[in-house]
Amino acid sequence: MSGKLRITVNEAKYLKLIYRQQYEKLCKVKTTLLARSVGVRPATVTEMLQRLAEKGLVKYTRYHGVKLTEKGVNEARKLLRKHRLLEVLFVRFLDYNVQKACVEASKLDYYASENLVNTICRTYGHPKNCPCNKAVFCDERCRGEAKEERT
Ligand SMILES: [Zn+2]
Ligand SMILES: [Zn+2]
Repeated sequence: MSGKLRITVNEAKYLKLIYRQQYEKLCKVKTTLLARSVGVRPATVTEMLQRLAEKGLVKYTRYHGVKLTEKGVNEARKLLRKHRLLEVLFVRFLDYNVQKACVEASKLDYYASENLVNTICRTYGHPKNCPCNKAVFCDERCRGEAKEERT
């Protein structure tokens, strides 16, 4: 709540990627690896990481690679929650296959409001996993009807 953090759609892409590497594939996040995944030159990645570090979202040292800070983890989880709930909607309601759902969700997750994803979450009974079996991070506000949205 202190000083609203602004993340661009491009920065969001890196946060999701770094989170997946660090916490779900449990590997060290290297610039070269990020460059390959995003399809840009390592220098471009380095610039981005410096920007994320300035915003306090990652710790970045040239030789030790990248790690999300606590703030970075929170933001990445918020984004991945959106991504994965969109996947749930696309697979369960639209009958998309998992891969297609993931591609479409990647284009939209950043733009989805918390209100929208919480509605999807409630509609499908607060799913614990997305269609590819990754964790759908929980949002207390979604479960507690009491103090909905608007915070
Ligand atoms: Zn996906
Ligand atoms: Zn929920």
